[in-house]
Amino acid sequence: MAGMLYLVPTPIGNLGDISVRCRETLENADFIAAEDTRVTLKLLNYLGIKKSLVSYYEHNKASKGNVILDRILAGETCALVSDAGSPAISDPGEDLVKQCAEAGITVCAIPGPCAVITALSISGQSTGRFCFEGFLSTAKKSRREHLQMLAKEERTMIFYEAPHKLLSTLEDMAAIFGDDRPISLCRELTKLHEEVVRTTLGQAVVKYTAQPPKGEFVLVIAGAAPEIPEVATAEDAGAHVAALMAGGMSRKDAIRQTVQDLQLPKNVVYEAALTLDTE
Ligand code: SAM
Repeated sequence: MAGMLYLVPTPIGNLGDISVRCRETLENADFIAAEDTRVTLKLLNYLGIKKSLVSYYEHNKASKGNVILDRILAGETCALVSDAGSPAISDPGEDLVKQCAEAGITVCAIPGPCAVITALSISGQSTGRFCFEGFLSTAKKSRREHLQMLAKEERTMIFYEAPHKLLSTLEDMAAIFGDDRPISLCRELTKLHEEVVRTTLGQAVVKYTAQPPKGEFVLVIAGAAPEIPEVATAEDAGAHVAALMAGGMSRKDAIRQTVQDLQLPKNVVYEAALTLDTE
């Protein structure tokens, strides 16, 4: 009988955030697949767990994925961990989960530390609807294209960013979303120097130009204000009916079409049509 794959989240800064269930899963697994075995070894030493480790990271995932899959199919249980936070979220794991799912292997995700959710919760921005955009490209052109696609996004947007790229990312965001757009910069979450700077994109550019950013950041940005649809007037209705009639439509059909096109009440369109000098 096949074994299982467990996705085990690990602390993003505070070792106390490892849960009882995560600890037990690591203890009970036959082996642990880790993004960086040295990082995971430190955690295992802290927990007093000795376990066989297999490295599984971005550049060996194609070959190692098959090795891990074969071991699970042969009956072993694997616990997958990344360096910090939830595996498969901007971290290795996504492909392994797909492989296991396709092979009919049970995958169990244990809830736990995740920078995107921790940042959103503490941001002070709207949390009802949000989108996670991960890391932006390092190439300026594709980074800007990505942001441009989000210019009208109304949901709260969340990005991961490295400190050395933060300033140029903020400059691009301010240019595309506007200086006044609110942003919460969530830094060093769960660590000693945890900080949330709630400001605007323009002010954030000023701040981090004067004082180069340090540490790990999650950026939580307010969505765009909803676009208020333009309300058509009776004058617009008259012009629309006239244009349709000039194109050969009967008055009756032009009125019906205008009601539909301009989303106006029928009586408004009808009265506007009466004032037309079309005979
Ligand atoms: N899988 C991880 C998770 O669930 O959060 C994310 C891994 S991703 C490679 C690393 C990025 O997450 C960092 O560049 C930063 O944007 C964010 N991050 C991780 N830990 C953080 C922390 N303690 N404070 C702020 N951001 C953090």
